[in-house]
Amino acid sequence: MSKKYFSTLFILAFIITLITLILSFFLVKLLHHPESQPFPTVSSVTLETEASQANTPPTQTLTTKELFPQTPVVHNQTVLKNPCPVPKKDYADYSYLNVGQNIAIPDKTYVPADLVLLDKSISTSPICLSNQAAIPLIVMLIAAKEAGYTIKVSSGYRSYTTQQGILSNDIKSGNPHATELVAKPGYSEHQLGMAVDLTSPSINDASATGKFADTKEAAWLQDNAYKYGFIESYPEDKEEITGYMYEAWHYRFVGIANALAIFQSGETTNQYLEGLQN
Ligand SMILES: [Zn+2]
Repeated sequence: MSKKYFSTLFILAFIITLITLILSFFLVKLLHHPESQPFPTVSSVTLETEASQANTPPTQTLTTKELFPQTPVVHNQTVLKNPCPVPKKDYADYSYLNVGQNIAIPDKTYVPADLVLLDKSISTSPICLSNQAAIPLIVMLIAAKEAGYTIKVSSGYRSYTTQQGILSNDIKSGNPHATELVAKPGYSEHQLGMAVDLTSPSINDASATGKFADTKEAAWLQDNAYKYGFIESYPEDKEEITGYMYEAWHYRFVGIANALAIFQSGETTNQYLEGLQN
């Protein structure tokens, strides 16, 4: 072996060692880079704030509620901003309040805090309802469907102003029984977001009509609604007690235990709720 061969080998070995050292240095630098962060997860959305630029505090984590002040709803597989109203101030929770012909909601501008839009497959128009009532309602309508009855919602939450409009239209149309059919604004279970008017394709989805009383769907509801926490607020032959004419279409969510107690006692919802207060 010549001397020249050994010196070439030595130079090559030196160059390879040098390249390895340089590469190792950059690799170590890259792995320990201060900006290399794990991927953010969906559940922890962290937004940098102006304060973070001043290093006090470095980041602020926002909750889903802050990011979406209005509950997002899934409608036909698309997440939409909730179109239902949200309260402009803090109200007491009146979800289970006893309201009636002469029992008003204490705050006439009351808006429930958890209104959600019902899917159009179960409603005849865009209808909002308290989430507390919406979920059992969907369960009830699925059970009805399985038993062979298609039931739809024709009315849910109604604001004070909407209720005012409905009553004045009924009075203008010359209905002498307007106030026995339509609650005064501020006196309606609909304003609580816990009551629905129901209908069915068998009467062409007609809303709030006496025709509903003779349908198979109304009969199914009379036998089964209480199992899902819903009770007819204005039953037949109870007009003198409720102050309202028979409304086979109007159901209020009161929770399963209360609905069962009302169903078994034969009391009206008003009588039962009044009894709970005493
Ligand atoms: Zn109603």
